[in-house]
Amino acid sequence: MITVVRFGRFEARIQSEVADFLARSLDCEIECGGLLPEPEGALDERRGQWMSVEFLKALLAAAPRRGRILGLTGCDLYIPMLSFLFGQAQLDGAAAVVSVARLRQEFYGLPGDEGILITRLRKEALHELGHTLGLVHCPDRSCAMSLSTNLPQVDIKRDEYCENCLQAARARLAALNGESK
Ligand SMILES: [Zn+2]
Ligand SMILES: [Zn+2]
Repeated sequence: MITVVRFGRFEARIQSEVADFLARSLDCEIECGGLLPEPEGALDERRGQWMSVEFLKALLAAAPRRGRILGLTGCDLYIPMLSFLFGQAQLDGAAAVVSVARLRQEFYGLPGDEGILITRLRKEALHELGHTLGLVHCPDRSCAMSLSTNLPQVDIKRDEYCENCLQAARARLAALNGESK
């Protein structure tokens, strides 16, 4: 079972749009879950950014048994080694998080565009959730599982997996469904 939750003030409407999109993409049921508070102590006030690992910990505590959980946040995430992250996930683990902070046009001083935001978010949601299903980075630059460390790399990929990644994701999902029965 896969659940999509939101942190803090993240828009419920965009959360349910992402949940519907993932259900169509993966051809499985996705639960649109509730709201989690932003993790205590995750904010680094000096950087003005939030520690991604704390979001994963909060998600793990809320994860369905043998399932997967994807959290959506507007907070700008980082890990100590990197200046920022679009998202983070446990490889073949329960939890993944995606931040929309740097997917918004407004971050770059441009007028807001919800269509662009949602398209980018779909790609990164598929990407991070894919990691929880055991998928690694894909060499196909148009596949949602290709690595994006900047916005042009997000924009160049499609909001779907290549055939290989889709097969692998479906196989892992089928195995998980079998285990939980
Ligand atoms: Zn990745
Ligand atoms: Zn791929």
